[in-house]
Amino acid sequence: DPTVARLEEMAADIMGTEAALLYISGTMANLCTLLACTRSGDAFFAEPDTHIHYLEKGYDTVARIRPIFLESSGGIIDPDALRSALDVPDHGGRLLCLENPHNRGGGRVLPLDRHAELCTVAHDHGLHVHIDGARVFNASVAAGKPVSEWARHADSVMFCLSKSLSCPLGSVLCGTRDFIQK
Ligand SMILES: *Cc1c(COP(=O)(O)O)cnc(C)c1O
Repeated sequence: DPTVARLEEMAADIMGTEAALLYISGTMANLCTLLACTRSGDAFFAEPDTHIHYLEKGYDTVARIRPIFLESSGGIIDPDALRSALDVPDHGGRLLCLENPHNRGGGRVLPLDRHAELCTVAHDHGLHVHIDGARVFNASVAAGKPVSEWARHADSVMFCLSKSLSCPLGSVLCGTRDFIQK
């Protein structure tokens, strides 16, 4: 559909990624990311209050993967917690899921320097970094920085059209052309 194609192009452009794909919901976009980056039996790193764990849950029943929980303060993950978790032999983790702003953390914005450090640690260990950015445009306004500043350190970003952007439904997943194709 030409209108959807235009929306996807616009989203990729604003996010600074190669490609984007419209989904009916954010849950679906997050789940497809988990499915694209893992195989049954793998794991993902996240903190326990993240939306993907406490509300979505499809990762266990559909993707058949497990979470490796990281210590955080108000949803902001400690990079040393990630380093320690990565030191565990055969951890099986394939991606790091960040949430920004953090819903259960009271809308806390993940500061860019902390975000960049987490992405570097994750990438040094070959992980994919996914941002659950349901309200990432709020984080952008709060921090006074474009969303692309967070996206450029990560591998994929999901944002909801249905939250602060006020559409009745829909979310967009942004990333490389290869990732979106997958
Ligand atoms: C709403 C929300 C989602 C999921 O979006 P749906 O379109 O409701 O599936 C994912 N993550 C966070 C942080 C959200 O607030």
